[in-house]
Amino acid sequence: MANTDLYSTLVNSGPGSFLADKVGLPQPEALRRYQKGKPALPGPVKIGGAGRLADPLRTLLGDYDLAQDAQKYGALVFDATGITSVTELAQLFEFFQPEMRRLLPCARVVVIGSTPELTSGDEHIAQRALEGFTRSVAKELRRGATCQLVYTSPQAKAAHSGLESTLRFLLSGKSAYVDGQVIRVNDTDAAAPADWDAPLEGTVAVVTGAARGIGATIAEVLSRDGAHVICADIPAAGEGLSKTANKVGGTALAVDVTADDAADTIAEAVQKQGGRLDILVNNAGITRDKLLANMDAARWNAVLGVNLLAPQKLTEKLVDLGVLGKGGRVVDVSSIAGIAGNRGQTNYGTSKAGVIGLVDTHSDAYAGQGITINAVAPGFIETDMTAAIPFATREVGRRMNAMQQGGQTVDVAETVAYFASPSSAAVTGNVVRVCGQSLLGA
Ligand code: NAD
Repeated sequence: MANTDLYSTLVNSGPGSFLADKVGLPQPEALRRYQKGKPALPGPVKIGGAGRLADPLRTLLGDYDLAQDAQKYGALVFDATGITSVTELAQLFEFFQPEMRRLLPCARVVVIGSTPELTSGDEHIAQRALEGFTRSVAKELRRGATCQLVYTSPQAKAAHSGLESTLRFLLSGKSAYVDGQVIRVNDTDAAAPADWDAPLEGTVAVVTGAARGIGATIAEVLSRDGAHVICADIPAAGEGLSKTANKVGGTALAVDVTADDAADTIAEAVQKQGGRLDILVNNAGITRDKLLANMDAARWNAVLGVNLLAPQKLTEKLVDLGVLGKGGRVVDVSSIAGIAGNRGQTNYGTSKAGVIGLVDTHSDAYAGQGITINAVAPGFIETDMTAAIPFATREVGRRMNAMQQGGQTVDVAETVAYFASPSSAAVTGNVVRVCGQSLLGA
């Protein structure tokens, strides 16, 4: 979807940029996004810290340009797993303070810690503190640079292969609109794909709500990464659906996700592709906004039905049928409205917060079967839906984040593809916001 943000285009032009600078207007950076064949980062990576991951990190990032004394950096990666007390948090200050002015536009900062709940005493306190540090750094960084925290299991093997997919996602343009997030990686080992540019080669994916908007782009990105995509949407969306399916060389499937036999219809389509479903993306969603005082039961039920009940039933039934099994990946779509709440959206906010509960309960329930469940929570994404919001409200939503701009559908899709990868076996139970660190919510 083309960027409809005229303001960004204007202030990034020569005269516009001069003017914006003089009067102190926000100047959103043109974000650096993934392009096959182009370097993942704008410059070299400096690795700091001295925990259990300092050496494995050099191996996992072996094909990145690693430097210790460059003038400017494309990324700073800090292994904070060695920090076991509050006084040792000074290591963060010592490493980062001198480097803060050496970051290139769209640079990446990644801090890696130990999952606090799996540590105890002083170490737990110090590890938990990392969250405040990284979220604050994210808010200080300018020019499209981002900062994230990755918590890893202290029980992971020394080489920690399960960490690699997360690092490669964060240390690239694929995470352009992900900022100030915390991702938990467990101790599962994961094999690297034969080709990091085609990590989904040989997989079969179902994307619901694929006729347009975010779902259509998810289908495109999964297909780019090698998946055969079954594009599902309601019969009334047939035209858009055929367009997406043709574009990605996939299969169009007319199905209403709320129908009683939706899972059987999907299972039949999967059967035609060999019978095994690797990736289920529960993206279909609707809004029926009204203040609660004016809401009718139909609006409430429709939103809860499509956004929450359908993903729950589809996932459970497809697992029961054995269509989704070992190595399966489920990606649900929440929203920042499910985290922060939104006026006029009690039904929508309830459904999207419920999706977070779904991730919690399904990730626990299916851990033993080797199926991962994660969610993306988009913020302001440039779609037909957000283009229809009245100008003033739209400008507020678009600028009230650390990136000072809306995200693109591809930003959500890249995050979905990261969760969907076979190499993300150690990533489950996460809800990652794709919101440019929106000021709404946590
Ligand atoms: P959209 O309205 O452009 O597309 C949604 C698609 O889902 C449509 O093609 C629609 O036909 C399909 N759909 C609706 N009901 C269905 C059903 N019962 N069965 C099958 N398909 C159905 O919306 P979008 O902006 O692309 O949003 C996609 C997802 O992202 C939704 O879950 C939405 O809640 C979420 N989201 C969007 C934003 C944003 O800024 N656009 C922000 C947060 C979350």
